[in-house]
Amino acid sequence: MHDKPQKPLLPHLSTGLIHHPYLAPSGFEAPQPGVFKASTVYFPSVAAMRQREWKDKSSYTYGLHGTPTTYLLEERLCALEGGLQCVLVPSGLAALALVALSVLTTGDEVLIPDNAYGPNKALAQGELRHFGISHRFYDPMDPEDLSRHITPQTRLVWLEAPGSVSMEFPNLPELVRRCRAHGVLCALDNTWGAGLAFKPFDLLEDAALTPSESGSQGSLSVDISAHALTKYPSGGGDVLMGSVITRDAALHLKIKLCHMRLGLGVAANDAETVLRSLPSMDLRYKAHDQTARALAAWWQTQSQCSQLMHPAFEGSPGHAHWQALCDRNTGQGLAAGLFSVMIDARFSQAQVDAFCDGLKLFKIGYSWGGPVSLVVPYDIASMRSTWPSHLRPGTLVRFSTGLESAHDLILDLHQAVQAHLPIA
Ligand SMILES: *Cc1c(COP(=O)(O)O)cnc(C)c1O
Repeated sequence: MHDKPQKPLLPHLSTGLIHHPYLAPSGFEAPQPGVFKASTVYFPSVAAMRQREWKDKSSYTYGLHGTPTTYLLEERLCALEGGLQCVLVPSGLAALALVALSVLTTGDEVLIPDNAYGPNKALAQGELRHFGISHRFYDPMDPEDLSRHITPQTRLVWLEAPGSVSMEFPNLPELVRRCRAHGVLCALDNTWGAGLAFKPFDLLEDAALTPSESGSQGSLSVDISAHALTKYPSGGGDVLMGSVITRDAALHLKIKLCHMRLGLGVAANDAETVLRSLPSMDLRYKAHDQTARALAAWWQTQSQCSQLMHPAFEGSPGHAHWQALCDRNTGQGLAAGLFSVMIDARFSQAQVDAFCDGLKLFKIGYSWGGPVSLVVPYDIASMRSTWPSHLRPGTLVRFSTGLESAHDLILDLHQAVQAHLPIA
């Protein structure tokens, strides 16, 4: 389709190298899609420029509004989570902030689960409060408590399943029902489920729906799913990115407009990295999950562990809700690679810190979803207004399993427990 380049039309090399006539043939196909990088996007004419619609994916207008690379990633993420529209942002936390700034205004109130991802609480206590947007924390394990907190000012309810440190798994469908009954938007931080453990836009099978729930949307669904792509979709511990996915065009437009006004965008090479990781995500997620369960089962045999917090384990807070949503009695339910243990109160903070320092394969670091196993001790007392009654006293340690052999990881746990958490 392309003629062989003629003799250069322009006499100056500087111009000729920019306005070079050669175009590579189209039709190139390879496992990974091409990467398109742009701030400027060309229009064939002024008339075309004036006509171009930037809010949908019919064409291209400016790098911030989308490129073939970001459109492709957005569509694949919609497929992953079961949504219809997506915007990309520079981090998971930016996804949470974008949701808040898109739908809340002065005088509104947002409800946040008291076990939520900490920086989401900090956003409410900082910028949202400055803008005259109030917040309250509710107990996600008590749907009645959510209902009690909903007032005419409540505009948004955050959901998280499970809570990201203490791992309580809420009755998500019931919490969504409560939001629906009050006509309040609900947004899920879907980082843990990642579109794999459960479907945020189809929480229940049709048979479990009441007639009003199976109405226009056809299923019991969150309104918004925010996802820290930094975790499993990236899978490398090397990219920060987030997404906000919806199934409602009007709600998406609200988010898209706010996204544009805030000037949020993602770098093409980061989008490329996530696109490269997505094909292996399902396999990686299952591997992280199996390893986490092997480690959690090992901890259950250790008397230093006074409580295991892993939603797939009997006795863990909200285990039955995990079973109902993720397992649906198939016995094959997924549960990510994250769990916490309560180290018995007879061990001091210093001993627990020494145990974490004594691990060789587990690195000390935030985040999860990468190839390397991570450990972080958390001070629950400083994270909650009161010590949650379902948590034993002690020091909470959270583990995120990487892709190492479970056997090697257990040996590492064993040596560090022996060295630093001695049984008197
Ligand atoms: C990591 C995380 C975030 C934030 O993601 P970043 O990309 O690190 O900003 C939000 N929610 C949950 C549950 C997370 O684990």
